[in-house]
Amino acid sequence: MLRDLFPRTHDHYEGSRFAGDLEAFAEWLRAVGYSRPSAHQHVYRLDQALGHGNGIQPGGTFCEADLHAAFTSRRGSRPDRSTQRAFTRFLVAVGRLPNTENLGLESVGIALDERGRIPVDDHFRTSAAGIYAVGDVIRGPMLAHKAEEEAMACVEQIVTGYGHVNYDAIPGVVYTNPEVASVGKTEEELAQAGIPYKKGSFPFMPNGRAKALGHTQGKVKILAHAETDRILGVHIIGPRAGDLIAEAVVAIEFAASAEDLARSSHAHPTLAEVMKEAALAVEGRAIHI
Ligand SMILES: Cc1cc2nc3c(=O)[nH]c(=O)nc-3n(C[C@H](O)[C@H](O)[C@H](O)COP(=O)(O)OP(=O)(O)OC[C@H]3O[C@@H](n4cnc5c(N)ncnc54)[C@H](O)[C@@H]3O)c2cc1C
Repeated sequence: MLRDLFPRTHDHYEGSRFAGDLEAFAEWLRAVGYSRPSAHQHVYRLDQALGHGNGIQPGGTFCEADLHAAFTSRRGSRPDRSTQRAFTRFLVAVGRLPNTENLGLESVGIALDERGRIPVDDHFRTSAAGIYAVGDVIRGPMLAHKAEEEAMACVEQIVTGYGHVNYDAIPGVVYTNPEVASVGKTEEELAQAGIPYKKGSFPFMPNGRAKALGHTQGKVKILAHAETDRILGVHIIGPRAGDLIAEAVVAIEFAASAEDLARSSHAHPTLAEVMKEAALAVEGRAIHI
């Protein structure tokens, strides 16, 4: 469900439900099932993934002329470290629900979970023999390429007895300007799981192609296992991040190390060189900075 909220016309926004209160907006996100991660956690995770480290948290109000949101630092306990930012547009890009109503599932004995999804096992089997489910109606991110992988794995499993989806290698892309893309684990997830990691990051600023495109904002961050060097997560903000993440997906799928990526030649001048530099940076060996 996408909504483009224009501040001067937000009266026309469906129901104007959030016209006065960003907290109400967050509440709505939770109500429609966007609670894992919650809206706050999501912004926090994005912030962490990109290494800003401020842990921004949305709050604040909408007002008539402009859209304002207060971002409060999660670091430390001092509440006075908040700031206000004004926006001209507010895009709600979350809140879709699984379309599982009126499918007659109850007639074949399939009960939905608490979020209206169809429970499946690792091979996409439902509780009803011979009935499988993939995509938006089951657990996991509601993404086209995730649904596609599941559909292929499901049919392969049925036909050959083998079929598998590596959810650690399903990328997520936010098609904003600049784009945001990530695959694998975030630093927060690795820390929570107690997995030792090292990281390398490299900005687009010194990259020749980024300069030629006039889009030098952002950076690539690579997280690798501290002992094995295996790539565990890649996070990109910057030009063509959604395209660049494909290399990271392949690297994770092939269990590549950061060194593997660092030793692979990347054509010059391309944005992909930033991937190589970030991989070199994992061992503190980035060269073009
Ligand atoms: C506005 C929007 C933008 C999106 N942008 C992106 C994006 O940029 N990138 C991305 O990865 N994902 C995006 N998505 C999500 C993506 O479209 C879904 O994750 C993906 O389509 C899920 O595939 P699916 O096969 O599970 O469901 P669907 O593609 O929705 O297919 C389900 C099919 O079942 C049919 N159907 C439904 N009910 C019945 C019934 N009772 N009987 C028979 N047929 C039925 C429907 O008509 C439909 O054809 C977007 C979604 C929306 C709504």
